[in-house]
Amino acid sequence: MGTYYVTKVRKQAVASKDGAYHEHIVGVVTNLDIFYTNKEVSDSIDAGHDWYTAVDKEPRAKIKKLRFCSGSGCLHSPYLTTNPDHTTRNNLENLPRG
Ligand SMILES: [Zn+2]
Repeated sequence: MGTYYVTKVRKQAVASKDGAYHEHIVGVVTNLDIFYTNKEVSDSIDAGHDWYTAVDKEPRAKIKKLRFCSGSGCLHSPYLTTNPDHTTRNNLENLPRG
């Protein structure tokens, strides 16, 4: 099984039904500079591969699947998140844009 390290995220600004804007992740970029959509990462996790965020001087955070974006009323699916730990710098949502 493979292990992938995510260094950047790609986000898109969207309006939800109530008219509020938020940004959500549409894909990630790995340390090898390859772009994967949320769906590709989700399918890869289902296939047994491991995905982590990789931020300098921070512990790796494991990426897991969410059914939907956590934005209010947003049905963007599948979605990705990381388990919270003692730092937020390695949170998927906080990675640099790529
Ligand atoms: Zn959303």
